[in-house]
Amino acid sequence: MYTIKSAREIQKIKKSCSIVAEILGILMEEATAGMTTNDLDRRAHELTLKKGAIPAFKDYNGFPKVLCASVNEEVVHGIPDNRELKDGDIVGLDFGVIVDGWYGDSAVTIPIGKTSKEAEKLMKITQECLYKGIEASFPGNRLGDIGYAVQAHAESNGYGVVREFVGHGIGRALHEEPQVPNFGKKGTGLTLEAGMCLAIEPMITAGSYKVKVLKNNWTAVTVDGSLAAHFEHTIAVTEQGPIILSDRTN
Ligand code: MG
Ligand code: MG
Repeated sequence: MYTIKSAREIQKIKKSCSIVAEILGILMEEATAGMTTNDLDRRAHELTLKKGAIPAFKDYNGFPKVLCASVNEEVVHGIPDNRELKDGDIVGLDFGVIVDGWYGDSAVTIPIGKTSKEAEKLMKITQECLYKGIEASFPGNRLGDIGYAVQAHAESNGYGVVREFVGHGIGRALHEEPQVPNFGKKGTGLTLEAGMCLAIEPMITAGSYKVKVLKNNWTAVTVDGSLAAHFEHTIAVTEQGPIILSDRTN
């Protein structure tokens, strides 16, 4: 069962999200060729503690790090390790914290140095897909309207929409109901209500949308080795329209 958050509770989630946004912003500036994904993880951890927040992903179902770092054909849930980032890579950074028991969750995909035109376009369209999904998040709209908006934009650009992983409600837990698929039909699914807090997170591939999970039981990669991108915001559905709680421009 999904929960409806009060204005006060939305402010709590926003506090967590603003810390996530700030830390992601720092990682986006600092990530460079020659760094390892472990370096980014350590930096995220240090910044989280400095903010007095708790990393949300560490030990979540046994996840070993505070950050998910997914490079190139890795779609989501990449485990930071000693892999060095190279010029031309793209890396998805997915990050969450807990403050006062409330969760915030957001993700970006960034270029390392100069990337290919294809990679640039994939990142641009995936971010646009996220905003299309957010724009569909009005009270009275349906979950299928969000999924449709994301899917239509991705597929009209020839991209694949990952099916196995979806967005989610968020609040007192990292993953709450409802699930928020990045595909769907207009006018179907749960009706959105003011006070819902949702993490919308399109995972878009340059080739087939099929993914598989590596032997580490976490990292999802494209089956055909094509590039993937992932962007995520935590939003609140309100009578005035969607509010992006993890906005980095605030
Ligand atoms: Mg996330
Ligand atoms: Mg999420």
